Amino acid sequence: MTDSSNSSSARSLQTRIVHPDDQLSPGFDSFSVPVARASTVVFPNLAAMRALVWSDDSQWRYGLHATPTSLALAQRLAVIEGGKHALLQPSGLSAISNVYFALVKAGDHVLIPDNAYSPNREHADWLAADFGLEVTYYDPMIGAGIDALIKPNTKLIWLEAPGSVTMEVQDVPAIAKVARARKILTAIDNTYSAGLAFKPFDHGVDISVQALTKYQSGASDILMGATITADKAVHMQLKRARMRMGIGVSSDDCSLVLRSLPSMQIRFEAHDRTALSLARWLKTRPEIAAVLHPALPDCPGHEFFERDFTGAGGLFSVVFDRRYSPAQIDTFVEALENFAIGWSWGGANSLAMPYHIKSMRTAGVWPHEGVLVRFYIGLEDEADLRSDLERALARLGG
Ligand SMILES: *Cc1c(COP(=O)(O)O)cnc(C)c1O
Repeated sequence: MTDSSNSSSARSLQTRIVHPDDQLSPGFDSFSVPVARASTVVFPNLAAMRALVWSDDSQWRYGLHATPTSLALAQRLAVIEGGKHALLQPSGLSAISNVYFALVKAGDHVLIPDNAYSPNREHADWLAADFGLEVTYYDPMIGAGIDALIKPNTKLIWLEAPGSVTMEVQDVPAIAKVARARKILTAIDNTYSAGLAFKPFDHGVDISVQALTKYQSGASDILMGATITADKAVHMQLKRARMRMGIGVSSDDCSLVLRSLPSMQIRFEAHDRTALSLARWLKTRPEIAAVLHPALPDCPGHEFFERDFTGAGGLFSVVFDRRYSPAQIDTFVEALENFAIGWSWGGANSLAMPYHIKSMRTAGVWPHEGVLVRFYIGLEDEADLRSDLERALARLGG
């Protein structure tokens, strides 16, 4: 295609579309981070390309590894968490997976709390079955007793506090101290606290994993994850594995998470207020045997929560009295009008999900007989949620 209308340029229209001669107005500033989409990153010359140092996060190499948009998000996440470096992943589970591939190999031993996020367990079981990893699940309340489970080949200890679904709060500093003394790396799934209410690096943990899918996205419409560290060498190990596996995130998704970050703490506090109030009220109900909210004394590790956390967010579980059958609890959950049935949380909408814990655990004894329901308390009005729960509880009968 030739451009006959512009004789001042010898280049064809097609080439000029590919190489536009933009005259953009300088001095534009805004509160938002621009969306930088790129696969190719253009170098000014070959010397600049050859001088690249891959360990420098702020040197642009290739869109897969970082863009100004993704780096802005990573840096803000590191600040929130109290760390120094963050690496974005396309999901929380991908962040968990990258920790394994970066830090352990066949023949190594990994310790995982029995209440860990179930897909983490599935991932570990897969690595054990097909890739020669040795995996031991431990009682989440083991504390410094973890020392007895450490073997010469132990390379990584996972933590999760409070634990997914069952909410036990681990004595993180006690476990981290043992790990440090034995020169074993620790990684915590800190999604529950969003990095706001618990600061892993103050307690001796090496790596924090966040499912940004939750509060950081805040709208139930983005999947993303991150690993955050305070140690450059550990960050580099994670970064190398991520690069080798070809993992990156989209700048569009990063920009959506960046939009939600400024309101995250305010949302977290609102979820926390309503959830704690409803948890206290549920504790007074005769249908409920135990309320597993870390800020309430029924929850194992409540004392560690009081010591180490500054808030709780919207997640908690209840155990129903054993006189109710699983089918009755299903009816209760389905009778709720303002609580949706679905995975993930951190958005505006409340959720409820029944769990059969005994089938999910392999270490220690789960002490409750009744069915567990996990609630995520969204941003609805508390009174509406309470009357909804009241109505559904009434349908259970005595
Ligand atoms: C949701 C969640 C994850 C995984 O996040 P995805 O982005 O859904 O993969 C990991 N850990 C915890 C505790 C979670 O709640």
